[in-house]
Amino acid sequence: MLVAAGRGVAVENYDIGPHAPHPRRVAVVGAGNVGATFAYTLVLNGLVGEIVLIDIDRERAEGEAMDISHAVPLTNPVRVWAGDYSDCAGADVVVVTAGTAQRPGETRLDLVKRNAEIFGHVIPNITQHNETGILLIATNPVDVLSYVAWKLSGFPSRRVIGSGTVLDTARFRYLLSDLLDLDARNVHAYVVGEHGDSEVPIWSLANIAGMRLNEYCRRVQCDVGDDLRAHISHQVRDAAYEVIERKGATYYAVGMALVRIVEAILRDQRTVLTVSNLVPGYYGIEDVYLSLPAVIGREGVERVVELALGDEELAALNGCAQVLHTVLAELPDQAVEAGDGAA
Ligand code: NAD
Repeated sequence: MLVAAGRGVAVENYDIGPHAPHPRRVAVVGAGNVGATFAYTLVLNGLVGEIVLIDIDRERAEGEAMDISHAVPLTNPVRVWAGDYSDCAGADVVVVTAGTAQRPGETRLDLVKRNAEIFGHVIPNITQHNETGILLIATNPVDVLSYVAWKLSGFPSRRVIGSGTVLDTARFRYLLSDLLDLDARNVHAYVVGEHGDSEVPIWSLANIAGMRLNEYCRRVQCDVGDDLRAHISHQVRDAAYEVIERKGATYYAVGMALVRIVEAILRDQRTVLTVSNLVPGYYGIEDVYLSLPAVIGREGVERVVELALGDEELAALNGCAQVLHTVLAELPDQAVEAGDGAA
C-alpha cells in the first residue's frame, strides 16, 4: 500500500507488525508537583517520545499536560497528554508519584496506611495494562511504598525501584562540593539506608580525585572535622523540612533524580545510583527495601553493591532496616500480600 509521508513523498508501507518502531513512552501516575516537574524535566532532556500523565484529578493532569506541551516547540518533539491506565501499555517506565501529604495531627504511620491504600488501587491498575515495564516509585515514605508496590505487582524486585536516597546523595555531594569549592560531579559520596530520618551518609568512603576525603583534605589543607561532618549530615537529613518550610514542597531536585534514573534505564547506562531496592541479605538485612548503591540498566537493578562500611555506619544501616521492618509490620496484610513479588 502507498501512504503519504512527510514532504509529500509516497513510500511503501511494509507491515512489520510488533517490530514497527514506536516512540519510547514513560507514564506518570500522579501529576502533582513531583509528577509534573519530572515530566517537564523529561521533555527538556529529550529522552522519550511520549509522556502520559495519569491522575485521579483529571483536570490537573490535563492542565499540566497542556502547559508542558506548550514548551515542546521550543525544546524537543515529545507528545504529552493526560490519559488513563490503559495508556500505561507499552510504557518502558511507569513513575508513581501519586499520594497524599500528611494532614495536621496525623502520624507518619497514618500517612503510610493512606498511601498504601492508594497503591492498592494504583499498582494493580498499572500492571493490568503493563506487565513488562519498570515501576519507579517516588511517593513517600518511598522505601515502604516501593516494597508495597513490589508485593502488589508480583514483578521481580529488579523491576520495582524506589527513588530512595538518590536525592539525599545529590544533596550530600552538593553540600560537600560547596564546602570544598569543587564541581559536585567530582565529589563521590553516598547516602544509604532509609530515605528519611534514619538515613546514613557514608563519610568513610567519600572520595575526591581518587582519594578518600581525609587524604584529599590532608593534601589540600582543608579540614572537615567531626563537628562539620555532623552539621552537613543534619543539613542533608533535614533538607526536605527546610525547603517545605519555605515553599511548601520539594520537586525540582527529585524531578531531576527521577529523570537520571529513567535515563540510566532507557540508555542501559549501568549507572551506580542509590535507589531503594530489595536488600539481598547484605549485612544480615533482608525482606526490606532500602537504598544501597545499585547498578541501573535496561532491566532495572542489575545488581546491588555491598559497601565496606565502618562499624558505626553498619550499626546505623541496621537501624534503618529496623525502622522500616517496624513500619511494614504495622501495615494491614492486604497492603503487601496481593501479588507476592518475586526476588
Ligand atoms: P501533590 O499533592 O502535589 O501530588 C500528588 C498527586 O497525586 C495529586 O495530583 C493527586 O491528585 C494524585 N493522586 C492522589 N491519589 C491518587 C490516586 N489514587 N490515583 C492517581 N493520582 C492520585 O504531591 P507532590 O508534592 O507531587 O508529592 C508526591 C509524593 O512524592 C509525596 O508522597 C511526596 O512526599 C513524595 N516526594 C518524594 C520525594 C522523594 O525523594 N522520593 C521527594 C519529594 C516528594
